[in-house]
Amino acid sequence: MNTQPGLLIRDGMIIAPAGPTVADLAIEDGRFARLGKGLELDEGKVIEAAGLVVAPGAIDPHVHLDLLTFSGQTSSDDFAGGTAAALWGGVTTIGDFAYPAPGQRLVEALRQRRKLAKKGALTDFFLHVAILESPPDLEEQIVECWEEGARTFKVHMNDNRCGPEFLDRVCRRVARLGGLLLVHAEQGREIENNRQKLLAEGRLSVQSLPRSVPPELEAGAIRQVLAIAENHGTRIYVVHLSSRLGLEEIRKAKSRKIDVAAEVCIQHLLLNEEAYNLPGAHYIACFPPLRTDADREALWEGLADGSIDTVATDHCPFLCSQKDLGKDDFTKLAMGIAGVETMVPILWSEGRRRGLSYERLAELSSTASARIFGFYPAKGAIQPGAVADLFIYNPERRFKIDWKKLHMNCDFSPYQGLEIVGFPELTIKGGKVWEGSK
Ligand SMILES: [Zn+2]
Repeated sequence: MNTQPGLLIRDGMIIAPAGPTVADLAIEDGRFARLGKGLELDEGKVIEAAGLVVAPGAIDPHVHLDLLTFSGQTSSDDFAGGTAAALWGGVTTIGDFAYPAPGQRLVEALRQRRKLAKKGALTDFFLHVAILESPPDLEEQIVECWEEGARTFKVHMNDNRCGPEFLDRVCRRVARLGGLLLVHAEQGREIENNRQKLLAEGRLSVQSLPRSVPPELEAGAIRQVLAIAENHGTRIYVVHLSSRLGLEEIRKAKSRKIDVAAEVCIQHLLLNEEAYNLPGAHYIACFPPLRTDADREALWEGLADGSIDTVATDHCPFLCSQKDLGKDDFTKLAMGIAGVETMVPILWSEGRRRGLSYERLAELSSTASARIFGFYPAKGAIQPGAVADLFIYNPERRFKIDWKKLHMNCDFSPYQGLEIVGFPELTIKGGKVWEGSK
C-alpha cells in the first residue's frame, strides 16, 4: 500500500547520475521508484515532460533567514517566506546558520534556530553552527552540538576575534569529530585597519567597500586556515569565494590533496564592482564585495574545471528602507542581498550560455552539496531510493528578472532586467508538487 499518491513524469530528459536520458520517472511514497521507458502507475498523477529537463532538487547550502545582523537589521525573509521563494526557484533544501548571542552556549543557539526553522520551513533544512567566541570550554560546546546532530560549523575570519589560536582549537576539535568547517575567509585585522584608514579619510560610502577588503585578504585567509587545517586533517569548506587570487589558493591546496571545497555565490558570478558606482549601489552591498570582471571570469573557469565545488546564494535580503539606514556609511549598512529564488534560473541560464552541461549544472546546484554535507545518495540525485526532490526545467522559456514578480520579501533585485533563458517551472519536494508552481 502506498501512503502517498504516486507521480509519473513522462518523457522528460532526466539528469541522472549515469547521464541525461529521455525516460519516464516514477515516484512512490515520496521517493524515486523507477526510471525507464513506458512506465505505468497504478494510481496517481501523470506529468507530461516532453521537451523538458528533470533535475535533482537544488540545494542552497548558504542562506540567512530571519537573521538579526550586526547592522541591527533583521533579514527580511523568514523561514516560511524564504523557503517558499526557494521552492519557486527549484530549491528543495537549504542550509542556514545558528548564530549564538554573546555568551550564549552554542548548543542553545542551535536548539533555538532549529525550533524556528522547524516551525516555518517548507523545504528541508540543515544548520551550521557559527563559532564566534572562544570560551574555555569551547571544545565541550562543539561536542554538545555534535551530540545534538550538528555536523557543520562555521568560523568568521573577518571577525577580529578569530585569531590563529582560536582557529587551531576549532580545527582540531571539528577534525576529531569528523565534521566540516565552513570558513568565511577574509583577514579581520587587515579589514579593521583598512576601515580605520577609510574612516580617517572620510570615505565610507559603498564605493569604498572593495578597498576595505581587497582580494589579497581573501587569499591570505584561505592560506592561513588551510595551513592550520592541514595540521589537524580538518575538512574545510570555503564559503562565497569571490576572487581569482582566492581561487588560486584553492587550486594549490587541491593539487596538494588538502581536503577543501569551495563555494561561489551567484552575485560574484554575475556582477562586478562597477555596480558600486551606479545609483542605489548600497542596495546591492554584500560581503565579500563584488570584484572585477577578471575575477568573475576566473570564477566561471573554476566552475567549469572543478576547482569550485558548489554554487550558493548567501541569501540575506533586506528591504530598501532597511538598506537606506546605512546608505552613507558601509560599516553600518545591512549587508546582504536576496538570491535563493533566482539561483537556479540564473546559474542554469548563464551556465548553459557558457557551455556548462546539464550534468555539471545539476552537480553544482545539487549533487555536490549533497555529497559535501552528507546527504548523498539519499538526496542530490535522481536515482531509485532517493528522496523525490526535483525541478522540471523548461529550457526554452524566456524570463526577465523583475523583483515584483519574485516571491522573496525584497523590493529590489540586483539582477533587475536580466534576461534569463530557461526556467524551473515546477518543483516537487518529497514526491509532492509544490503548490505554488502548480
Ligand atoms: Zn553568509
